[in-house]
Amino acid sequence: MYDIELKGITKTYAGSSEAAVKNLTLSLERGSIVTLLGPSGCGKSTTLRLIAGFEQAEEGKIVLAGKTVSDGGCWTPPEKRGVGMVFQDYALFPHLTVFENVGFGYKEKDRNERIKEVLELVSLQGFEKRYPNELSGGQQQRVALARALTRRPVVVLLDEPFSNLDADLRVQMRMDVRRIIKEAGATAVFVSHDQKDALAISDRVVVMKDGEIQQDGTPREIYQFP
Ligand code: ADP
Ligand code: ADP
Repeated sequence: MYDIELKGITKTYAGSSEAAVKNLTLSLERGSIVTLLGPSGCGKSTTLRLIAGFEQAEEGKIVLAGKTVSDGGCWTPPEKRGVGMVFQDYALFPHLTVFENVGFGYKEKDRNERIKEVLELVSLQGFEKRYPNELSGGQQQRVALARALTRRPVVVLLDEPFSNLDADLRVQMRMDVRRIIKEAGATAVFVSHDQKDALAISDRVVVMKDGEIQQDGTPREIYQFP
């Protein structure tokens, strides 16, 4: 069972002579954590943005949890894709509390319980009334992760979530993020240019180069044959 299927995806930005992502085909199994690894400019963020629906491919098909979200004329907007996203800079609302950030836009009946539940998942009970500027970098990142999980997304996308953390915290957060995503039961795609991130976090590593897949395997397979 695959939660994310990319079939022959090509994306060329307006004004660009070369495609950022070239005929990319990739199927990610339910519950897996996959790292897209590779140098700056190889197409990692573009791939993530295509899955999220922030960009549209000119060719190919994207299927999320069995539902086609992008295929020629068919197009599902980001908010209807069941995708949660964590950005490099966390993108928290500075004027909203932790509680309000985590529940932003979530209007279901179980709102309060759900917010409490995800805050427990990221070990931030008791921080409900704080503002982002009253939190450490690691705590802010966990708020961002909690917010991405509030709607019980099938797919979670993380774009360089550790790049603003110092080395010690980074080591800790790798383990935390892996545990949290596994507990949430989501399928996650994680973008990084750090091999250590990939090793610690993922079940599978996809190495990209110039918009194409260069290597694809478990962390062990990838690093045994550098
Ligand atoms: P990565 O995330 O691996 O650093 P990107 O997906 O950001 O790579 O970029 C892939 C290629 O597409 C690069 O050549 C980059 O310059 C180009 N690119 C990315 N975003 C845009 C954009 N909005 N407009 C034009 N070109 C872009
Ligand atoms: P990343 O750190 O993910 O590789 P960058 O710092 O390269 O991202 O780019 C930041 C933003 O600029 C992104 O929104 C990306 O789409 C856009 N961008 C990147 N390359 C280009 C480009 N060549 N032309 C226009 N926009 C770009």
